[in-house]
Amino acid sequence: MALQFTKSKEIISRDNKVYSKFARIPYYPLVIKRGYGAIIEDYDGNKFIDLLSAASSLNTGHSNPRIIKAIKDQMENFISYTAAYTYSEPLVKLAEEIIKITPGDFDKKVVFGLSGSDANDGMIKFARGFTGKKKIISFLGAYHGSTYGALSLTTLSLNMRRKIGPTLSEVEHIKYPNCYRCPYNCSKDTCNIECLNDFINALSTYLPPEEIAAVVMEPIAGDAGLIVPPIKYMKAIYDICKRNNILFVSEEVQQGFGRTGKWFCIEHFDIVPDMIVMGKSIASGVPLSAVVARKEIMDSLEAPAHLFTMSGNSLSCSAAIETINIIRDECLLKKSRDLGNYAKKRFEDMKNKYEVIGDVRGLGLSIGIDLVKDRKTKLGNRKAASKICYRCFEKGVILIFLADGVLRFQPPLVITKDELKTAIDIIEESIKEYTNDKIPDEIL
Ligand code: PLP
Repeated sequence: MALQFTKSKEIISRDNKVYSKFARIPYYPLVIKRGYGAIIEDYDGNKFIDLLSAASSLNTGHSNPRIIKAIKDQMENFISYTAAYTYSEPLVKLAEEIIKITPGDFDKKVVFGLSGSDANDGMIKFARGFTGKKKIISFLGAYHGSTYGALSLTTLSLNMRRKIGPTLSEVEHIKYPNCYRCPYNCSKDTCNIECLNDFINALSTYLPPEEIAAVVMEPIAGDAGLIVPPIKYMKAIYDICKRNNILFVSEEVQQGFGRTGKWFCIEHFDIVPDMIVMGKSIASGVPLSAVVARKEIMDSLEAPAHLFTMSGNSLSCSAAIETINIIRDECLLKKSRDLGNYAKKRFEDMKNKYEVIGDVRGLGLSIGIDLVKDRKTKLGNRKAASKICYRCFEKGVILIFLADGVLRFQPPLVITKDELKTAIDIIEESIKEYTNDKIPDEIL
């Protein structure tokens, strides 16, 4: 039976009158009334299995009772008091925990913010402050946030930059390694990471390495289409950074906090970055972000170089401490790996059956299913992705797509195996209907 969206549509029509449409990318009429675990309920009583986790912000699930208790307990003492003027135990405790769970057996320090975007701005300040150099390198197609610093690193979409420049100067963008669409037609066996040559050549022609402060890289390119880089590439770019005194920054806002089956995705590559940027799932949906780096990097600016009234507020820090406890107690890193393996196998099997699936890739519960117009040209198939996502929504599954048609599979790590299986069955049904031309254009 088709789902009804009466109350939801009424709220959306009110929203359209009062909220900037430039802050939205709507996929379907979802107005959330409540959530628990991996389940969302809307205002019309419809239930959905969430495969998006609020853009990878809810690794511990919706309204986790332990998070609610941690916030309530803190609120009963005090809500927030600007960390610039006072000290707070939740802040210190969280910084200590973050230092423990991040790679690198050296002295580190942390600074908190409220969003992935502001954390990226902070990271740029610390990288420039520490090295005394200006240039920052990020990757084409990446999304790093909407504040001016983060936006300067971002090249995901023209509309994010149109009319609002200038962005920061001295930011350069290089190609992200993309094995599925390898411009050199290499396979895993024949790859000599030719894709790094552009950067290597640039360093000896127009990009003086002694002027580069940092390379900022997502260890899986999230919004660019959940692209997993080859280990060889990661080791090589890291070596280039080390040889040239360039900081290597792992941007983990989307992939951190267990999403890929490790605390931080960079650990899959056995690399110890100089800085890590984190946000989203750090506090289970409560606004918080952090930059953690070698002590000397974080000590390189003069106070008060980077602060917000609410940075490191006690509610967010308490939620983040409990997030870390939940990930440990419920073995969510292992769960992400185990369920991720199951899901990936299911999608690989689907790839053998449905031509529209060109590639399946990912680590843990961060998986991209790349839909193509045909397997030869590998052109992305946005239309297929829109129809399949909408059909999934009608069948009770929240799924969106990235880039030119990459299904974004990032459920809460607390999802049960049964829920995961049901959601994947629904994706398969929808792909099958698409393949059999059973999803009309009017659906969109
Ligand atoms: N970095 C990455 C990799 C992201 O995916 C995002 C958000 O989607 C951001 C940064 C920005 O984070 P926020 O929206 O919390 O500012």
